[in-house]
Amino acid sequence: MSTFTAGKEVLSYCGKCKLALGHTIVVMKDPQTIGKVKCNTCGAVHMYKDPATKTKKVKSKTTSTRKSKKSVSVGQLWMEEMGKASGKAEPYSIRSKFVVGDIIDHKKFGPGIVQALIEDKIEVLFQHELKLLVHGK
Ligand SMILES: [Zn+2]
Repeated sequence: MSTFTAGKEVLSYCGKCKLALGHTIVVMKDPQTIGKVKCNTCGAVHMYKDPATKTKKVKSKTTSTRKSKKSVSVGQLWMEEMGKASGKAEPYSIRSKFVVGDIIDHKKFGPGIVQALIEDKIEVLFQHELKLLVHGK
């Protein structure tokens, strides 16, 4: 059983340092899955990358960084993210708490994937747009 929790150290691949290095867990996706980690070496916060899978080449994928979102249409990105996402969509509610990678089902915008946590809001990628939603109220 894994005993990962936020604040613990874990070995993750760092895209900046291009090495498997010690990282501190920032956010857990669920009790067994690490969400975001902070590189102890360069201080970058990014999604946890299992060092064992870092060699998996994904050619056309330039979607995981914020910068590259401009070059890919939201619809395209949404399709990719939905394809990658696993698990069940949860109905969106202002009272629910979401983490990066969660699929939510929004009454107005339809299904979306949580891309980032920004203060008390979540950035959600919907088929037609990227939205900031409040959660955990
Ligand atoms: Zn680093």
